[in-house]
Amino acid sequence: MYIDTHAHLFDKQYELDLDEVILRAKQNKVDEIIIPATDISTTEQAIKIAEKYEGVFVACGIHPHETKAWDSSIIMELENLAKHPKVIAIGEIGLDYHYDFSPKEIQIKAFQEQLELALTLDLPVIVHNRESDADMKEIITKYSALGLKAQFHCFNGSLEDAQYYISLNHIVSFTGNITFKKFDFLRDIAKQIPLNKIMIETDSPYMSPIPHRGKRNEPAYLSLVAETLAQLHSVSVEEIAEITSANAREFFSLRNINKPILVYPLGEALYINVTNRCNADCVFCSRKGDAVINGFSLRMNKSQELPALDYIKEIGDPKKYSEVVFCGYGEPTIRWSVVKEIAEYVKASGGKTRLNTNGHGNVINKFDITEEFNGRIDVVSISLNSTDKEQYSKLMKLPEAYFEEMINFVKVAKMKNVEVVLSVVDYPEINIKLAERFARNVLGVSFRLRSYF
Ligand code: SF4
Ligand SMILES: [Zn+2]
Ligand SMILES: [Zn+2]
Repeated sequence: MYIDTHAHLFDKQYELDLDEVILRAKQNKVDEIIIPATDISTTEQAIKIAEKYEGVFVACGIHPHETKAWDSSIIMELENLAKHPKVIAIGEIGLDYHYDFSPKEIQIKAFQEQLELALTLDLPVIVHNRESDADMKEIITKYSALGLKAQFHCFNGSLEDAQYYISLNHIVSFTGNITFKKFDFLRDIAKQIPLNKIMIETDSPYMSPIPHRGKRNEPAYLSLVAETLAQLHSVSVEEIAEITSANAREFFSLRNINKPILVYPLGEALYINVTNRCNADCVFCSRKGDAVINGFSLRMNKSQELPALDYIKEIGDPKKYSEVVFCGYGEPTIRWSVVKEIAEYVKASGGKTRLNTNGHGNVINKFDITEEFNGRIDVVSISLNSTDKEQYSKLMKLPEAYFEEMINFVKVAKMKNVEVVLSVVDYPEINIKLAERFARNVLGVSFRLRSYF
């Protein structure tokens, strides 16, 4: 329902209970949270958090307070960090003449260079502005003409300023201070701004709304900001949620957020999510649960499965990755013809491929698919799961005959020009040592232990 467009969740104050903070946010209908970083190190921290939780995104940038040691090479670092799929904006950036932690000229230089980066990367910006209105207006006017999209976060200026920024197609966003007793002037401004130009935020851990003022703020309190706005505009709080979330989705290009993830980076590799379907139903598989890896939900129903070309477009240059892995929550060989086509593209473009499979691809496809591995698949990683037929059948909820099928798959794959790896999940009931010996000594292939998520 809500999107908290500004929460500094990397702050030390969340060190001990971030899991609970995120859980409370979800319980209070905050579906998405954007973490604006303040420097390089907090950008890295914010990315780690976004990788862990679904619906959490990052803005990368250098806050005006942190620009003292500005050096233009920082732009390259930011550009690199912005490549992460969860980075959706440049921020927070801007000017702050109240605290004056960094000299004005440096603040302006850093701000302008980051605005240029945003334009190059076609990303919106999150702007911090305090007692710097004249310079801010001049700079924003200049870059608006070049297509800049800005959010004036924690808006605290005049009605004229707000109207000016809106006239340039920017958005203002309100935080907990609109609930403060002495802030009638701000409520008065918020009342006069059309709802399609407003976003909401908590600015956590600061700006706690009444009745939490003075304590640590968190995204779960966002509804208090929404309630005040609802009263001011004489609409329901649901309407505020709907409009401000639609504004945020549009502004940060989150519109396709419920579209299934086709490719996702993990370490140095790129993973391909071809299907959620599987002929097995392993006890340790969260395929039917939340299916979240690295902050991305891999949920995908059959009607959302897409042809090879859509994957190829998203892969781009496969040489950027150590390997391209067909994996996800589901058995990729169910869509062997699509895997084959993507693998052909990756190989022709100089990349490496790995197929993670349960080894049932030949029964599924009713022919020996390993005959088609040559030149397409470099490594095939097959789930051994157990060396015991009965346990294998119980773990995968399949007839025991599938154990033989998997072993045969290993044997035929071994005869092709591919590296064969057998893997087991570090699930408590599985005898890992025995599995390793079986893989290496009995079948003569490599072995890999997969972590159980
Ligand atoms: S074979 Fe893989 S995708 Fe299928 S149920 Fe088992 S763990 Fe999940
Ligand atoms: Zn700020
Ligand atoms: Zn902030």
